[in-house]
Amino acid sequence: MAQESSGVGAVWGDIRAFGTGFKTTFKRLLKKPLTVQYPEQRMPMARRFRGLHKLLRYPDGQEKCIGCSLCAAACPAKAIRVVAAENTETERYSPGERYAKIYEINMIRCIFCGYCEEACPTGAIVLGQQYEIADYHRDDFIYTKERLLVPFAGKPADDRPHYRQGWTDQEKPAEPQTTGAL
Ligand code: SF4
Ligand code: SF4
Repeated sequence: MAQESSGVGAVWGDIRAFGTGFKTTFKRLLKKPLTVQYPEQRMPMARRFRGLHKLLRYPDGQEKCIGCSLCAAACPAKAIRVVAAENTETERYSPGERYAKIYEINMIRCIFCGYCEEACPTGAIVLGQQYEIADYHRDDFIYTKERLLVPFAGKPADDRPHYRQGWTDQEKPAEPQTTGAL
C-alpha cells in the first residue's frame, strides 16, 4: 500500500514538472526571440568594445601617425612594429617631421587592451568595432599599415575614437542588420 502511494506521488511530481516546463515555454511563446541569426544579423557592440585597430587620418587625408613608436613601447604583448622615416617636401605623409614607413600589428599577440590607443600622442591608432578577424594562416594576422589605415575618400571624415566621444558614421550600429558586413 505504501509502495502504491509513493508511485502515485512520483507520477504527480512528474506531471507538475511537465507543467512547470510548459509554463516557461508558453510564457516565452509570444515574446520577441532573443536569438540573433548570425552572420545574417549582427548585434551592435558596446561603445567601449575594443576590436580591430584603425590608423586614422586628418580630414585633409594626411596620416595622424608620426612614427614615434610610443604605442609599440606601451604594448604589453610586443605586438606592434613601427619603422619611421622622414617626410620630405616632395613626399609627405603626415604633418610632422616623420611618418610610419612600416606599421604592423600582430593580431595573434594582441590582447586588445587598448594601451596603444592610450599612449598615442596624436590619436592615430584606435580600436574599432570590427571583431570578425578569424583567418587560416598565421601570416594573415599581421596587419600592415595598408590594412589598418582608413581609406581617404577625399573629404573630411569623422574619425573620433568611438569610446570617448561616440560612434563614427561607419561604426554606428543599427538595429540587428539583415544583410551586409559591419
Ligand atoms: S591593444 Fe594592447 S596588445 Fe594590442 S596592440 Fe594595442 S597595446 Fe598591444
Ligand atoms: S600610432 Fe601613435 S604612438 Fe604609434 S607610432 Fe603612430 S603616432 Fe606614435
